[in-house]
Amino acid sequence: MNGQGKILSSNNAMSVIFGYTPSEFEGKDIHNLIKSSEIKTSKDAEEFLINQVAEFNVYKTDETGLCKDGSTFPLKMDIREVYLGKNKHYTVLFRNVTERLKSEKLIKKMAWHDSLTGLANRNMFSEKLTDALKVARRSDKQIAVMILDLDKFKPVNDLFGHGVGDKLLKIVAERLLECAREVDTVARLGGDEFAIVFSNIEDENNIIVIADRIIDSIQQPAEINGNIIQIGTSIGISFYNNDADSPEELIRMADVALYQAKDDGRRIYRLYDPLMDAETKAQKEMEVDLNKALENDELFLHFQPQFDAIDNKMVGAEALIRWQHPEKGMISPYTFIPIAEVSGIIIPIGQWVLNTACLAAKSWQDKGLPKIRISVNISARQFQAENFVSTIEEAINISKLDPRWLELEITEGMVIQNTDNVVTKLEELKKLGVYLSIDDFGTGYSSLAYLKRFPVNTLKIDQSFVRNIHEDQDDAAITDAVIRLGHSLGLTIVAEGVETEEHVQILRDKGCDVFQGYYFCRPIDGDAFIEFQKNHNSA
Ligand code: C2E
Ligand code: MG
Ligand code: MG
Repeated sequence: MNGQGKILSSNNAMSVIFGYTPSEFEGKDIHNLIKSSEIKTSKDAEEFLINQVAEFNVYKTDETGLCKDGSTFPLKMDIREVYLGKNKHYTVLFRNVTERLKSEKLIKKMAWHDSLTGLANRNMFSEKLTDALKVARRSDKQIAVMILDLDKFKPVNDLFGHGVGDKLLKIVAERLLECAREVDTVARLGGDEFAIVFSNIEDENNIIVIADRIIDSIQQPAEINGNIIQIGTSIGISFYNNDADSPEELIRMADVALYQAKDDGRRIYRLYDPLMDAETKAQKEMEVDLNKALENDELFLHFQPQFDAIDNKMVGAEALIRWQHPEKGMISPYTFIPIAEVSGIIIPIGQWVLNTACLAAKSWQDKGLPKIRISVNISARQFQAENFVSTIEEAINISKLDPRWLELEITEGMVIQNTDNVVTKLEELKKLGVYLSIDDFGTGYSSLAYLKRFPVNTLKIDQSFVRNIHEDQDDAAITDAVIRLGHSLGLTIVAEGVETEEHVQILRDKGCDVFQGYYFCRPIDGDAFIEFQKNHNSA
């Protein structure tokens, strides 16, 4: 180019970029190759070159390139002064950067978006939350953070494959976008975890309405590759306020609320409450203490006798665990068993209960007391363990108790999932010769029909039905149905929580086989239980 921006010579690549032949380029003005508001004439070009392009420096500029056919493209130019003899000329390097800009845009998008769903990713989510917080501090508007976790997503993935899982995540993303407002940032944080930042909230209730809408929308069945799939979501929500004003704290609080929602039964939302933190802390402490409890002999068993409804003979006893905490005193199994389950300590504790209960039953037999069956509660985690059947064998071998005097209490929830596996396991247990009973019957899925598939011996009607059987018609009707159907399947029906003479009368009339409850005897320690057996037999 000369000093007025006239092209003196060009290479082939120039022809490729602009569509002119090399001879067409000769004598062409630079301002005809770019769409610039500043350089429109040779005069403009001359001034531009004199003012902008200094000796020894490359001048770089972004322009819009103009092709022969009138089309345009993003163009980068590097301009440099050169001397041919005494004459000042310029070399210009033209680059069509369309592709480069495209990939830059893609890289940018990848850095901020989740590639599967197109939602914001974790980076973008934090960025938006930080921005929203800044705005909220200056105004009197609130912001909220919602964290969502899908219920039952993992089984869908395992059962139908990742392709279906991915499609499901996309559907969830679409539904979340529909439920949220345009201004809200909907993000996928990873796996099946999603989050939404709501800014400019006038009323907390609006968020609750949205949470309800989301729960409803997610649990609508979705059809993917011919499969009808239904999942749900649990939601934790935190609101910005003056004591939690960092993004991290807001996310943490929403997470705590999410765990509470899952704990409280799933497919619900929970708003963060500082009490939740206290509870989590207390649970963590209890977990640590439980670990010590086994070693320090703080655990022991109580036994509660069971009686034949017709001849009042003692036919069995349930082993119930007790924890004497060194500082806190007696802690109810209703409190610590769920914690032991979550942390996994239930495995060694459960084994201890099994061994101890079998040893106790054997020692009573060795004392010459009439033989009774000992029932041991089994937790879900224990039952699901790969080696569960061999832990039962171990207890039998250690105690030398004839297995037919051992009964395992499982719950409906434990047998309803993954049925084939469960049936195999129960059949293995059956082969060992132990008895099987379904505890707290009626509180779970309440479908008596599926019981046919399971080789169980006993149903224990839950206390909640027995408690009001004398005044609540529904409870009485359910108990009636359970007894009839149970009998038709050849099962023994045990009523738990029998507290009054009236309970005994009604249950006996309905044909219940075995009673357990405070009316007869509370759970008592081993020594007291031996005394009780002796007295009951002689009475
Ligand atoms: P569960 O297996 O349904 O045990 C019956 C519960 O009812 C026991 O509570 C018992 O003390 C109580 N009970 C008995 N008769 C009556 C009555 O007439 N009225 C009332 N209101 N209650 C009565 P406990 O001992 O507090 O045990 C609570 C639960 O903890 C048990 O419910 C069982 O699910 C679990 N659990 C207890 N020991 C163990 C154990 O060794 N392992 C496992 N995994 N869970 C256990
Ligand atoms: Mg029980
Ligand atoms: Mg029970």
